[in-house]
Amino acid sequence: MKVCVIGAGASGLMCAGIIRSKGHEVTIFDGNEKAGKKLFITGKGRCNFTNASIGEEFLHNIIRGEKFLLSCLSAWNCFDTISFFENLGLKSKIERGKRVFPNSDKSSDVIKALLKHCEGVEIKTNEKVVSVSKTNKFYVCTNKGKYFFDRLIIATGGKSYSDTGSRGDGYFFAKEFGHNIIELKPALVPIELKDKFVAKLQGLSLKNVNLMCRCNGKTIGEFGEMMFTDKGITGPIVLTLSSKVNRYDNLKLSLDFKPALSHQVLNDRLLRDFEGSKNKNISSVIKGLLPIRFVEIFLEKCEIDPDKKVNSITSKERERIILKLKEFPLEFKCFYPLNCAIITSGGVDLKEINPKTMESKIVKDLYFIGEVLDIDALTGGFNLQIAFSTAFACGQNF
Ligand SMILES: Cc1cc2nc3c(=O)[nH]c(=O)nc-3n(C[C@H](O)[C@H](O)[C@H](O)COP(=O)(O)OP(=O)(O)OC[C@H]3O[C@@H](n4cnc5c(N)ncnc54)[C@H](O)[C@@H]3O)c2cc1C
Repeated sequence: MKVCVIGAGASGLMCAGIIRSKGHEVTIFDGNEKAGKKLFITGKGRCNFTNASIGEEFLHNIIRGEKFLLSCLSAWNCFDTISFFENLGLKSKIERGKRVFPNSDKSSDVIKALLKHCEGVEIKTNEKVVSVSKTNKFYVCTNKGKYFFDRLIIATGGKSYSDTGSRGDGYFFAKEFGHNIIELKPALVPIELKDKFVAKLQGLSLKNVNLMCRCNGKTIGEFGEMMFTDKGITGPIVLTLSSKVNRYDNLKLSLDFKPALSHQVLNDRLLRDFEGSKNKNISSVIKGLLPIRFVEIFLEKCEIDPDKKVNSITSKERERIILKLKEFPLEFKCFYPLNCAIITSGGVDLKEINPKTMESKIVKDLYFIGEVLDIDALTGGFNLQIAFSTAFACGQNF
């Protein structure tokens, strides 16, 4: 059987090698000069290729597509991925949050292993697929030629970091075959704020804070580290939050600088600090609670003159300080564009895909794997594991 895979990324390479091992003739097309261009930049060049967690622990990190993934994750889980690479000579290590990296810390070694797995597969790089159609066979046109195949696998990735070749072509092909595309949204993405003060805070990192978002009648909070960019916020908790709220409107963001301290405890602390610094400016007391660069902005929000003496701070002003420490408002403008997102949320509608084989329910012998599907997960190696698990589900049935 002649099989075409569009995309030499994580899912395409994994799938092509499996199908080749079953004796089929496999061709991969990739518009890039090299295979695995996105893989190369993953995990800041170290490639966090899976997460050593299974069952509920893994599923907890999936934002969209959790139920759909149940069967393919049970057929191919993180430990299968780890031993798959180990058999290809790639040893790995487990770090904080069960993130799995190659021992060498080199994403290029992950790509090398996948290419070794693809021995016998024809990998046509610099060859972009421009159109696909089906009569009795699949007719694939590239910038270099025209081909016929018995089966077609679309592994074109999402639409973010388009320099890596993932430009969203897969969604277009899917539509041509009659598939529904769930609206694309940036996920794991920084947030732009309307607040003018952010420009002054660029580069400032906040640790152990709680970033909260009120949307759709509920509050979602993320605890940990974040930082300011030239026009907004980024960092682990921002990226996580973005994936959880990217389909809601009217987002109201706020920051709890002291999540471990209750209103009452903060009040007692302030009273103690005030007692010991009666003749000092309020800004010098606030310095003990917030990063120096934030003090002026914070007091401006509290409508308190930073030079005001502590002994003349009223109880109402103290109350305002506590409220802003617990709920400092940040004005949401928008998410950074899709191209800046680590992952694309949305994609080929899972209702139209067989979860055991990844085959289209609309067109026989057509398959979708990896990020092109309406699946996305948090950071930690989950997205690559999903690419590998969907690739395995597809490949093993050939
Ligand atoms: C900066 C960054 C860091 C990341 N780090 C991690 C991480 O550490 N761990 C993790 O789990 N996930 C990470 N991800 C997410 C992860 O890289 C993706 O989820 C994963 O690569 C998706 O695999 P895929 O096979 O679906 O698509 P991709 O790996 O994007 O591969 C798609 C391939 O299809 C090719 N293609 C597209 N259209 C065509 C066409 N028309 N013709 C020919 N070829 C085409 C592209 O050139 C590309 O090579 C990261 C993402 C980014 C952007």
